[in-house]
Amino acid sequence: MLHAAKHRRRSAGVAAPAAHHRRLAGRRSDHLPARGQCLHGRRHGAVAARQPGHHRPQRRSRSTGRQRTGHRRRADGARLYRPGRPVLGCRRPRHAAGHDARDRPRTDCARRARIDRAAKRGPDACNGARCRHTLARIARRRWRQRQRFADAVPGRRAGRAGAAPAGDRNDCARRRLPGRTWLRRVVGPGRNRRALEAGPGFRAAPFGRLARRHAGALAARGGAHAQLARTGGAVTAAVQEIACDLLVIGGGINGAGIARDAAGRGLSVVLCERDDLAQHTSSASTKLVHGGLRYLEYYEFGLVRKALREREVLLRLAPHIIWPLRFVMPHEASTRPAWMIRAGLFLYDHLARRAFLPASRGIRLNDHVAGMPLKGGRQRGFEYSDGWVDDARLVVLNALDAHERGARILTRTSCTHVARDGDGWLATLEGARHFQVKARAVVNAAGPWAAQVAQLASGQAKPRALRLVKGSHIVVPRLFTHPYAYIIQNSDRRIVFAIPYQEHYTLIGTTDLEYKGDPAKVAIGEDEVDYLCRLTNAYFHKQIGKADVVWTYSGVRPLLDDSAGEASAVTRDYLLDMPAGGPPLLHVWGGKITTYRKLAEEALGLLAPRLACTGADWTAQEPLPGGDLEDAGELANGDAFAPFLARFRAAHPWLPEPLALRYARGYGSRAARMLGGVSSLAQLGAELAPGLFECELRYLAEVEWAADADDVLWRRTKLGLSCDSAEVENVRRWLAQHRP
Ligand SMILES: Cc1cc2nc3c(=O)[nH]c(=O)nc-3n(C[C@H](O)[C@H](O)[C@H](O)COP(=O)(O)OP(=O)(O)OC[C@H]3O[C@@H](n4cnc5c(N)ncnc54)[C@H](O)[C@@H]3O)c2cc1C
Repeated sequence: MLHAAKHRRRSAGVAAPAAHHRRLAGRRSDHLPARGQCLHGRRHGAVAARQPGHHRPQRRSRSTGRQRTGHRRRADGARLYRPGRPVLGCRRPRHAAGHDARDRPRTDCARRARIDRAAKRGPDACNGARCRHTLARIARRRWRQRQRFADAVPGRRAGRAGAAPAGDRNDCARRRLPGRTWLRRVVGPGRNRRALEAGPGFRAAPFGRLARRHAGALAARGGAHAQLARTGGAVTAAVQEIACDLLVIGGGINGAGIARDAAGRGLSVVLCERDDLAQHTSSASTKLVHGGLRYLEYYEFGLVRKALREREVLLRLAPHIIWPLRFVMPHEASTRPAWMIRAGLFLYDHLARRAFLPASRGIRLNDHVAGMPLKGGRQRGFEYSDGWVDDARLVVLNALDAHERGARILTRTSCTHVARDGDGWLATLEGARHFQVKARAVVNAAGPWAAQVAQLASGQAKPRALRLVKGSHIVVPRLFTHPYAYIIQNSDRRIVFAIPYQEHYTLIGTTDLEYKGDPAKVAIGEDEVDYLCRLTNAYFHKQIGKADVVWTYSGVRPLLDDSAGEASAVTRDYLLDMPAGGPPLLHVWGGKITTYRKLAEEALGLLAPRLACTGADWTAQEPLPGGDLEDAGELANGDAFAPFLARFRAAHPWLPEPLALRYARGYGSRAARMLGGVSSLAQLGAELAPGLFECELRYLAEVEWAADADDVLWRRTKLGLSCDSAEVENVRRWLAQHRP
């Protein structure tokens, strides 16, 4: 907190120092006290942003008899006030207590007034050595006393550092608290606490080097930031300060996987995702947990081996959302000779240990069920195994596990600035709530935005080039009824999958097109629909056209630029890049859903020693939430789901079969927890969309960060395909009304 004189002087050098005064002049702020109120609440002679009326001389000082100005009054409830940093809670450093002139009781008013007058004239105008000395000392002390913040929740009172927001009596000022200085907070009593917490926070003139640096950066970055700087920080959204070991930027599969691994090793983790979890590439994949048969053509044996190993691990960790899928490849002599396919499949079978999945084999299509929907003329084919995954749920389950192990997951919160701060990083996160995160290490897992995020971190060298490659899928009414998927080859040597999707549909994809636009706005092109339809029509009896397409989705692959010519030839492997020197900042370039766990493990392998974390690798053994379906015997069979489903149905005989199957698939062993003791269909609540009851919606909103209809209908469940616009609106309205 600054005295009025300093408050004005310091703000003068930044941006429009008096702007907060102007802003407050508009109307009497509902979070500032009425004039004449709460003088007794003044603490430490501090000042806060105030209305112009407060600048007028007011009453006389009790101790000196002189007139005091409104500057000397602290806005009641502004105990959370921090020059340059709007906060809801802060603790005061221990060494500050009782020594500063600002800490002295009222009897010190005369001295304080003297210092204030000297401060107004500036140090050069001081004619006594003692005065200069005092000012310098106070200035030094104020600098040392930079208040650091711990976690506090807007609308609730700040509590002990690192603990949940506390009750009324837990936040008295000057209380000594354990922990590092920057985890302590100063909080005063303040009668207008509610008004302050409910309303926007305060921001005063920047104070100290760090604050000045921030103000400069804010002004430079335009938009909301510039507004902040312009207003001199008059009134802004409340900002929480969080201290953590690791900040993960990006809530796709890689960010969620790293957050989970780090939290499981005992690190304090914050993950920020600017949209919903898995809203971008991680929900737009072909949804395969696979080794990548076609990568063998590019001699990527290392990547295929790693992916095949991970396929086995993931099938074990989340058998409810990941399951085996058998593929049929009709032989097309004009694209690849049979010996090449056989050699490739042999390698595919043997590059890594296979515990669950059967080996590949050659088939005769005329006596195989998968031959029936195919056009005649193809006699020969091959069969092999891979895995299917509900990609968006895999991300959510990783985030959920991270959260249950202590990580803080902030969805719809964008990281807008990252800067070095001593031996760590200071990041600005903006969303419905604003945060300043002080982290010992940062992970940039922003997928297609990784290069932009790397540039956010000021002072970083030019980031590695990413190659953005668009891939699109179409969904059509089912082309076949059996459970096999197809891998079909085009004359351009590309391959396309046709996969059974949600009982009534077939998913067809993907394409590979260079992409230069905004990854958030990626959409399928007409040429892609034509390409996918044409290729499908060349293989299947049932012909499809644009009119048959019931849904499409597109994603942007953030691929490591290996200077490969064609987009489909670019490596799908990943690179973890941690620039030497300075606090750890790890960039994730590239990657696949299949290899996310290994990527996270390797990331922690790099970060853990820098964070003095001794936790061992653990994610290969621990099932994801809901994944502990089976006993050991069933696990060995690789068929944990069927017996689990039978048990679940027996325990909930009132659930219709399709609903029981969907709950068991989506939530696994947590399905009963999601149902929360409900024992009849009526108790599930209103049916807001086909098969979507209030009970599930409540769970998704409260536990899985679902905040919008799309979060529920396209990512947490895949019910979007069966909903009309009225039902979507029902879900949207319900979520808006029941926001946790
Ligand atoms: C068409 C297609 C098919 C694919 N098929 C498969 C497949 O079958 N199997 C497979 O294993 N892999 C597949 N992949 C690859 C896989 O989907 C991706 O490698 C993976 O999803 C990338 O995850 P990510 O976490 O790196 O990126 P993303 O999922 O895009 O996550 C990055 C997140 O960072 C967030 N973000 C960005 N900037 C900020 C910021 N400043 N602050 C906060 N958050 C930010 C974004 O909102 C985004 O949600 C496919 C990819 C595509 C495009």
